[in-house]
Amino acid sequence: MYDPKSLKAEEFICHEEVLESLKYADEHKNDLELVDRIIEKAKLRKGLSHREASVLLACENEEKINEIYALAEQIKKDFYGNRIVMFAPLYLSNYCVNGCVYCPYHLKNKHIARKKLTQDEIKKEVIALQDMGHKRLAIEAGEDPVNNPIEYILESIKTIYSIKHKNGAIRRVNVNIAATTVENYRKLKEAGIGTYILFQETYHKQSYEQLHPTGPKHDYAYHTEAMDRAMQGGIDDVGLGVLFGLELYRYEFAALLMHAEHLEAVHGVGPHTISVPRIKHADDIDPNCFDNSISDDIFAKICACIRVAVPYTGMIISTRESAEVREKVIKLGVSQISGASRTSVGGYCEEERPHDTEQFDVSDNRTLDEVVNWLMSAGYIPSFCTACYREGRTGDRFMSLCKSGQIQNCCHPNALMTLKEYLCDYASDDTRKIGNELIEKEIDNIGKDKVKDIVRERLVKIENGERDFRF
Ligand code: SAM
Repeated sequence: MYDPKSLKAEEFICHEEVLESLKYADEHKNDLELVDRIIEKAKLRKGLSHREASVLLACENEEKINEIYALAEQIKKDFYGNRIVMFAPLYLSNYCVNGCVYCPYHLKNKHIARKKLTQDEIKKEVIALQDMGHKRLAIEAGEDPVNNPIEYILESIKTIYSIKHKNGAIRRVNVNIAATTVENYRKLKEAGIGTYILFQETYHKQSYEQLHPTGPKHDYAYHTEAMDRAMQGGIDDVGLGVLFGLELYRYEFAALLMHAEHLEAVHGVGPHTISVPRIKHADDIDPNCFDNSISDDIFAKICACIRVAVPYTGMIISTRESAEVREKVIKLGVSQISGASRTSVGGYCEEERPHDTEQFDVSDNRTLDEVVNWLMSAGYIPSFCTACYREGRTGDRFMSLCKSGQIQNCCHPNALMTLKEYLCDYASDDTRKIGNELIEKEIDNIGKDKVKDIVRERLVKIENGERDFRF
């Protein structure tokens, strides 16, 4: 029944296979010889199967767990260097016809204010985001064919890309909207989106159906097969994720990796990113009602095991997590974080963070300047780079460059140049000072002398007002 190449949800996320893998992991979690063999395999940086990775996640031996963490850190350094890509979510509309029991936008929530941004309001939000320094957005919307049809999403993307305020520009729009048709995915591709992101929420079919009792999202197969339709529609960068807290974390972990294996087996390219959200308090939502919540330590272990299991897949963490947790998991493999997020519809235009239309409480409330400053002080390079997809480096092209390590020749200089833009246009004096010192130091880590010279030239040009250089 289990078939990673099948296009049927229940065959590529086969419940029995998940249970078998968890049983195997339980039986072998303290088999240190096997754990060692799996760690050795992970060191080859070619990934692990969902079953192997499940053994590592179940392992209780402290020494081995520390080895897994050290390897995750090393793999992170090898593939992503010390760069952290920055983005922000933009909530377009919280109208929704679904009944997701963990989400405040569910249809039966009558006391949340409903709001949908007009194109004019989107412009204002985008200007506010550009004025912070953001270049990459993830647009978010509830599912509502009347209020948020695909035409509205497409028009909004066009509006977002069209706004050039001062030196600002949104250069990559990722999209997190409900599962849709191949035709609509094709339209999104034509609109120039970056990654199509869709969280599975839970891979456990029975729980999924209970957690999504009403609305189109109730259909487990339609939701789970969405990435195949997206790829059929020409989108080759897709972002997976589960909402941790809904189901047993080990079930989700194994199934998430099975999904990645499925995409690789069918389309020849795995997920571009994996997100690891945890349920948060929100209007009408009490996270304590969900009894599968995970501790910060388990959360870190999940991040480390994802990092060693799928080394080429970016890992995203949002402001759902506190600064403290973010610091811990960035080290273990996270490559992209949001900063200064507002999870309300129209929230960026407000002076104070509004709560009336919020999707969840934000734990990291710092400004983008504070986040950038913090990252640099911890030795990371905040990157506002959006070059890959604009240079056609998507899907299998991106993956093969990534696998051969060549992507480093672009990412590192691009990170430095986009950070320089940020420092010139948006940073506080202190952040600018730290940033310029960091750039000076990091230029030496560019491998090729010729590239080094070009970067130096371009940094001067950026100082003089030119923008948008990339490799
Ligand atoms: N409506 C789309 C969908 O169904 O996929 C768009 C995504 S929704 C705006 C973004 C994500 O937020 C959801 O996929 C869900 O995982 C997450 N989310 C919903 N309620 C949440 C909560 N209370 N705490 C944390 N994350 C939540």
